[in-house]
Amino acid sequence: MSSDALDKIAALKQRYAASLGEKLAAIQRAARQGLDDDSETAQAAQTECTQLLHKLTGSAGTFGFPILSKAAGALERAIIDHRPWKEIAAAIDDLSPGMVIDLVLDRSVPMDSIPATRKSGTSLARILMVSQDSSMAEGLAGQLRELGYAVRVQSAPQASPDDFQPDMILLDADPLAEMSGGAALVALSTHYHPSPPVAFLSNRSDTAARLAAVRYGAVAYFTKPVRVTELVDTLSRHFPHVEEEPIRALLVEDDMDLVALYRAELATRGMLVEHALDPESVIDVMHELHPDIVVMDLFLPTCMGTELAQVIRQHAIFASIPILFLSTESNIDRQIEARRVGADDFLTKPVTPAQLASAIVSRAERYRQLRRLMQRDSLTGLLNHGTVWARIDAAAQEAERRNTPLSLAVIDIDRFKLVNDTFGHLFGDMVLKSLSQMLMRRLRRSDIVGRVGGEEFVVVMPNTSIQDAQRRIDELRQSFSQIEHHFEDDQITASFSSGVALMQPDESQAEFYKRADEALYAAKHAGRNRVITAG
Ligand code: GH3
Ligand code: MG
Ligand code: MG
Ligand code: MG
Repeated sequence: MSSDALDKIAALKQRYAASLGEKLAAIQRAARQGLDDDSETAQAAQTECTQLLHKLTGSAGTFGFPILSKAAGALERAIIDHRPWKEIAAAIDDLSPGMVIDLVLDRSVPMDSIPATRKSGTSLARILMVSQDSSMAEGLAGQLRELGYAVRVQSAPQASPDDFQPDMILLDADPLAEMSGGAALVALSTHYHPSPPVAFLSNRSDTAARLAAVRYGAVAYFTKPVRVTELVDTLSRHFPHVEEEPIRALLVEDDMDLVALYRAELATRGMLVEHALDPESVIDVMHELHPDIVVMDLFLPTCMGTELAQVIRQHAIFASIPILFLSTESNIDRQIEARRVGADDFLTKPVTPAQLASAIVSRAERYRQLRRLMQRDSLTGLLNHGTVWARIDAAAQEAERRNTPLSLAVIDIDRFKLVNDTFGHLFGDMVLKSLSQMLMRRLRRSDIVGRVGGEEFVVVMPNTSIQDAQRRIDELRQSFSQIEHHFEDDQITASFSSGVALMQPDESQAEFYKRADEALYAAKHAGRNRVITAG
């Protein structure tokens, strides 16, 4: 965590501690008024007192005052159990400012420690290759770099002098050999924390060697000569992180002390957090933010959280978004009822930021996986046809709203039928995967990349002029044409052609796409392996 973030969190906690005296005074005032002779006044005061206690139960524990939180929770339950108000008011009076100060002194707040989730923008594809065969290693490394991996080649299994922390190690060694195999692996794994997964590259293909590799914990085994396409296939399984965007969470909570703390704490863990409270703005924010999860208080000022959850689910695009409820223990009956209706998850207040963060991460990632299955093509991991079409529509609206240029490229592999017919469909599939990997890794995060036909791809580039789009697709074209695809004893290179267009004012999506497609057609006619821009 940055020291700025820590300062901010410490300041929030201090501010909360400083406001506790005032919070308690308000609860005590309401409790005393709850004894008023006028039954209407008394009733209103008791309701207010209950609400304030409820809030205190939820927030005090989170901010590091667990004793106070427990006391408030017990009082809340006493109210629900209809204990005499006199008794309750007396107990509330015992929550003295002195007790608060004791608690402040007692409870130095431990910083929660949870490993930070991935920050956005970090690439997970750093590969360390250890091999004494430098020409083979450099050859493979060059091809992997074309695909967008960061590769370091070393001849011996020592740590890199700088802080290159590999996400995977490719070890060129015989796993059964005394010195090079297991010993090298042990030497390597001690250098890195956590130790990255290892794949063996080996001359041997016998089961004994493979078994040894497995026993050393290798996640993959390649026999030499190693084909870059196979390697990429394995790597992409280990690094399927097409989306490395931060987790987006929407917080629906009326206790602004909690909102401020959760926001700051979740932000330090790399998440994006928005807050909304009234039902209308919740729905609006959801359309804007497309959150991965909604974290919602069970009791909201204008409705029950469970009711709002049902309204959210009425919108088809949010039908399966995880909704995590926060509630105090005293709401246990409500929890059961809510589970019966909507079967969502609950965290019982007080919820520490670490608990909240880990609950969010696991649910949001599960949701992302589900969304991935629905929106992505299973062979390449790129967006499928329907999804890419919807995204173009959204990108077009955004470009119009912001008045920024939007470019679109249609890419089609050249003479791909010939590749299939000559080398078989499986080989063709590997070529498709290589191109997909390259598009995913080399394009910007904001670009939209989809597979719209067998060997046809679409790239939508927001905020990109036609010249920039042409230049970037052409760089990819050059890289792709240099990749050697190996199969058995065959080795080929492939190429693609592309048409690029810039969205025109008042143009329909279909027209926009058609112009890019026509430019692609022109590129094919002009001899393939080129990028042509639509006029
Ligand atoms: P052009 O340069 O004009 O684009 O020629 P082409 O051969 O690439 O064009 P055509 O559209 O005639 O052929 C496309 C081929 O792509 C036909 C089919 O064999 C192949 N193909 C489509 N989907 C897949 C797939 O999922 N896997 C594999 N291996 N091949 C596919
Ligand atoms: Mg509330
Ligand atoms: Mg083609
Ligand atoms: Mg085609």
